[in-house]
Amino acid sequence: MAEPVWFHIDVNSAFLSWTAAYRTLVEGRSPDLRDIPAVIANDKNLRTSIVLAKSTPAKKYGVKTGEPLGMARDKCPNLVVAEPDYALYVASSRRLMALLREVSPVVEQYSIDEAWVDMTGTTGLYGPPVLAAQHLKDRISRTLGFTVNIGVSCNKLLAKMAGELEKPDKVITLFPQELSRKLWPLPVGELFMVGRATTPKLQAMGIRTIGDLAKADPAFLIRKLGKQGGVLWQFANGKDAGVISSAPAQNKGYSNAVTTPRDVTDFSYADQVLLSLCETVGTRLRRDEQAGSCLTIHLRTSAFENWSHQRQLPNATNVTQELYAGARELLRAAWDGKTPLRQIGIQITRLSDTSVRQASLFDAADYEKLSKLDKTVDALREKYGEQALFRAAFLSGDTPNMAGGLSKHRRTGITKPVDEPEQYVLAHLKEGKIKL
Ligand SMILES: [Mg+2]
Repeated sequence: MAEPVWFHIDVNSAFLSWTAAYRTLVEGRSPDLRDIPAVIANDKNLRTSIVLAKSTPAKKYGVKTGEPLGMARDKCPNLVVAEPDYALYVASSRRLMALLREVSPVVEQYSIDEAWVDMTGTTGLYGPPVLAAQHLKDRISRTLGFTVNIGVSCNKLLAKMAGELEKPDKVITLFPQELSRKLWPLPVGELFMVGRATTPKLQAMGIRTIGDLAKADPAFLIRKLGKQGGVLWQFANGKDAGVISSAPAQNKGYSNAVTTPRDVTDFSYADQVLLSLCETVGTRLRRDEQAGSCLTIHLRTSAFENWSHQRQLPNATNVTQELYAGARELLRAAWDGKTPLRQIGIQITRLSDTSVRQASLFDAADYEKLSKLDKTVDALREKYGEQALFRAAFLSGDTPNMAGGLSKHRRTGITKPVDEPEQYVLAHLKEGKIKL
């Protein structure tokens, strides 16, 4: 049997590259953002603006992904700022995935700009793996106009780690016999899934490099970090141990979050934001004929602390009022009503299709009524726009009646539902999936 071969494809500074490629190839603009100090950031709202992606020249000024735009400007006064264009990013991502599927039938999309491709047994077709990767990398840049990194190894974990070793526009191998030379000298924070929270814990145990982690006693790590300790030890030793499974099913959950224009410091404002989020998420669920039974709220304080709270609903639902009732309860369990919040989000998971429901928070007759009402409202909004109808709660205050909106590009299913590029970048930074 052929040895397993995996490629990990990762677009270099995806958001910036995609905007730059569009500007140069389609609009004929110059200079190319990739050649000058430039970032992608939402310049309109300074309060929420963070660097979503940066060019290599901007990186030389010390500009970092995830930092506030103001800070980046201090480091580099002549920084060029381009607005994010999420519809373009989804379209670019799709074109890349389509090209990858021409190369191999097994393409596992991991995020908007990353995918694994199973290249096992393709030597007869494409030549040895490194040569095949070179050709693929050149083909992507020639036909789509942006560069990628391709990591090559025998499993998905090592292929991904390989792609992180040196950027941009590189093919890099990381086979088990190369671990001690290429992987182990790196700081432990560079390891896949070691996030910002775990790094200091490992350092406190005297584990500074990935090699230190690989040589640590797994029983000790499990004692200190629980199950995660064992997984990280496997990762450090180059084994993905089946932990990195296939990409999650499309639309595994529905979520939405908003950063509020001013801090939230009372329940009435918070409730209005929650209702607005429930409207959007409820509409998306109903459009896809889905209902969910696990509700989570996510809160971020003005001090950038993150809290979340979750509960199992008695039944799967997609009724706005029912989601809202659940979300209100969660909010009251999670928040004192005073600590300033800058962001509120909700998420619904454990999906089922809508035909299986029996009982609800409301009695059956009410449920039928509410469900019918939602359907009518959806139909009117589909026809006349999102503003056509809104609940009386939105008559006062500055909360939009449907947070995040429903414009087309927000609905397209990529591996994970993503509502704002900011959310995407911050979530991935936190989980250690992208590195600064
Ligand atoms: Mg990338």
